[in-house]
Amino acid sequence: MSDCLFCRIIAGEIPSKKVYEDELCFAFYDIDPQAPTHFLVIPKAHISSVSAIDAENSAVVGHIFEVIAKLTRELGMESYRVVSNIGEQAGQSVFHLHFHVLGGRDMTWPPG
Ligand code: AMP
Ligand code: ZN
Repeated sequence: MSDCLFCRIIAGEIPSKKVYEDELCFAFYDIDPQAPTHFLVIPKAHISSVSAIDAENSAVVGHIFEVIAKLTRELGMESYRVVSNIGEQAGQSVFHLHFHVLGGRDMTWPPG
């Protein structure tokens, strides 16, 4: 989608600090980090949020979690949080599915 910020990052039209890329997904550091380590993992296919996951496109989600396990291992992150905001009330500001991976500080529960 040409008007989607994250599709444009995947296409290289907007610069990002890439962590990882393969044929299905792309990972890059968040521009406004909320923890000492904060990166996003996104599918290359445009999916608007978790609420648009269905039988046709769900395989990429399992793949993304494999990638999160691999990247956090490589980065030495033993404890971390994976978050996906769905809808404006939950704080979603970019409507391309993404998983925040946050680590390197104490986390509170429940989240705000
Ligand atoms: P959310 O608010 O859950 O939709 O998450 C969107 C995230 O994208 C926020 O944490 C933003 O800081 C991040 N973000 C927005 N623009 C960029 C960008 N150009 N590069 C990296 N991260 C970005
Ligand atoms: Zn997109």
